[in-house]
Amino acid sequence: MANPVLPSSGVLSPLGLDAVRLSPGFWGDRVALNREVTIAHCQEWEEREGWIGNFRGERPRRGREFSDSEIYKLLEAMAWADHPGLPALAEIVAGAQEGDGYLNTRWSGSRYTDLEWGHELYCYGHLIQAGVARLRTHGEDTLTRVAVRAADHVCRRFMEGTQTCGHPVIEMALVELYRVTGTERYLEMARRFVERRGLPALADIPFGRAYYQDDLPVRQAQVFRGHVVRALYLASGVVDVAVETGDEELLKAVEAQWERTVARRTHLTGGMGSRHADESFGEDYELPPDRAYNETCASIASVMLSHRLLLATGDVRYADLAERTLYNMLATGVALDGRSFFYANPLQVRVPAVPLDGVNHAPEGGLRSPWFDVSCCPNNIARTLASLPAYVATATADGIQIHHPTPAEIRHGELAVKVETGYPWDGAVTVRALTGGRGRIALRVPAWAAGARLTHRGEVREVAPGYAVADGPWRTGDELRLELPIAPRWTFPDRRVDALRGSAAVERGPLVYCAESVADEPPLGDLAARVAPPVEHHVDGVVELEVAASLGGGEQSGWPYGHEPDGRPSGADAGLRLVPYHRWGNRGPATMRVWLPVG
Ligand SMILES: [Zn+2]
Repeated sequence: MANPVLPSSGVLSPLGLDAVRLSPGFWGDRVALNREVTIAHCQEWEEREGWIGNFRGERPRRGREFSDSEIYKLLEAMAWADHPGLPALAEIVAGAQEGDGYLNTRWSGSRYTDLEWGHELYCYGHLIQAGVARLRTHGEDTLTRVAVRAADHVCRRFMEGTQTCGHPVIEMALVELYRVTGTERYLEMARRFVERRGLPALADIPFGRAYYQDDLPVRQAQVFRGHVVRALYLASGVVDVAVETGDEELLKAVEAQWERTVARRTHLTGGMGSRHADESFGEDYELPPDRAYNETCASIASVMLSHRLLLATGDVRYADLAERTLYNMLATGVALDGRSFFYANPLQVRVPAVPLDGVNHAPEGGLRSPWFDVSCCPNNIARTLASLPAYVATATADGIQIHHPTPAEIRHGELAVKVETGYPWDGAVTVRALTGGRGRIALRVPAWAAGARLTHRGEVREVAPGYAVADGPWRTGDELRLELPIAPRWTFPDRRVDALRGSAAVERGPLVYCAESVADEPPLGDLAARVAPPVEHHVDGVVELEVAASLGGGEQSGWPYGHEPDGRPSGADAGLRLVPYHRWGNRGPATMRVWLPVG
C-alpha cells in the first residue's frame, strides 16, 4: 500500500497511490507539475547551495544545521513520484552514514551536544519518512537500508534516559517505520519520546519551553501552542502512538486540543500561526490578517494531523479542515509554474514586495521566492503533492469514502470508479462505476454545502453536510451525482477576533477569495464593501468574483483618531475584483487583502 500513513486500526483505512490515480484537474495538474518541475527545481537548488555537497564531504559545510532534512524531504518526494533521480541521490546520502548508523553532516564529531536546537533527531525523522515511502513504493534498497540503520542507532542511543529533540517529527516517522517493518522497538521509542515531553525533557529557552511543547505533558495540554510546525508534527506523532498502542486517553487529548485550536487559533484559510518572532500560534482569537504568519509547512503539518484524526475517528470535520487548508494554503504555497514558493502566508499585504535576484527576497510573504536560506517549505510541498492521491479517499469493510472530490480513478476491492468534476470551480461531482461490484459509496458534503443534492438511480434527494451515501450493487456505467451548492458567500468573523471586527470575506465552495492590486490598479488600503451577492466572472477556467465597494480618496486628518466613529470612504461604489487566494501573487508584486471592511 503506497501510503504515507497506514494505521493498523481506525474507523477508516486510507487508500494509497496504488488505489487512487488522479486525472487532469485542479489537483491532478498540480501533482503532475510537481513531478515534472518542482522536484527537479528543489534538487538543482540543493546542489547549488551545497547542501547535497555536504554529504559528499565538501568543506566548508554549507547551509543551516538542519539542511540535511531538505534532502530527505526531497528523497521522500522522489519516492512517491517514482522519480529516476532517487537512487543516485540516495547513494550520496549513504556515503555520509557512519559505522553505527549515525548520520548528520553538521554534528558529526560533536554528536547530540545541542538537542534543543541541533535538529539531529528531526533530520532522522525526515530520513525515516523517506525510507518508509521507498519501502512502500519500491521495496528495500540503499535509501531504506540507510533509514533503518539510522532508526536502529536512535533506538540504541535514546531508548533509556529522558532526552528528546527540540523539533518533533521523529515520533511519527518511527511509528510509520514500525507499521511497515513490524519492528516493535520503533513504536516503543516513539512512545517514549512522546511521554518524555513536558516532564520536562529540554532546557528552558528565551521563547519559553512552550515553544517546543516541553512546558506540559501532552496529556495535560488544552490547546496547540508554541512553534506551529513543531506542535502539529508532535500531535501527528501522538495520534500515531495512540492508535498503535490503543491509548484512547491520548487520542482524546489531541482531539480536544485540535478542537480548541480550530475554534480560536486558525485563520480563514486554514493557516495557523500569528507570531513571526517564534513562528508560533498567538493567543486565542489573536488572528491579525496583516501579521498572520501561517507558514506553508504549518499548513502541511495541519493536513497531516487532520488526516490522521480522520482515519482514527471518521469524523468529517477533520476532512473539512484538510480541504480548507489544501485549497487555500498548500495550493497558495507554490506558484502556478511550480518554481517559486511562499514561506509565510498573511491575509493582507499592505505594500508590494520588492523583487530581488536570488533567494530569500520575501520570507515573510508578498512574493514567492525560488528558494530560501531555510527551504523547508519548497521540499515539504514537493513531498506532499507527490503523495496527495493518498489523502483523497478511504475504505471501510462496506465500501469507499471520497473525501476530496477531484478527477480520479479509485479502485478498492470489487469497486472501481471514475470521479469526474470541475471542482472547485463547479459543484457537480459524478462518480461512475467502471466495473460491476458491491459496496457503499460515500461522498463528503462540506459543512458550507447545505442544500446539496444527490442523484442515484434516477432519484434526487437532499443530503446534509457530512457524507452522502449510496449503496450498490453497481453495474458498469452506473452513476452517482452530487451537486454541491457553490454560490459565493459572505463570511463574518467571531466578534472576539479583534483584528477583523467590521470586516467580512468572500468564499465560494472551498476557496477563500481576496482583493489583489497590481501595478496601477486602485490601492486597497481604504475601502468599504457592500454585503451583496458577488457577481461571477469566468476567466480562463477560473472563477473570479466582483463585489461593490467604495474606494477612499486618500484624505487624512493628520491624526488617525477622532471623537466620532469613522464613516465610509468618500469614493462612489465601483466593482472590486476578487481572485481565489491561492492564485494571488502570480502577476508580480501586489497588495492584497482577504478581509474587506464592510458597512
Ligand atoms: Zn517551511
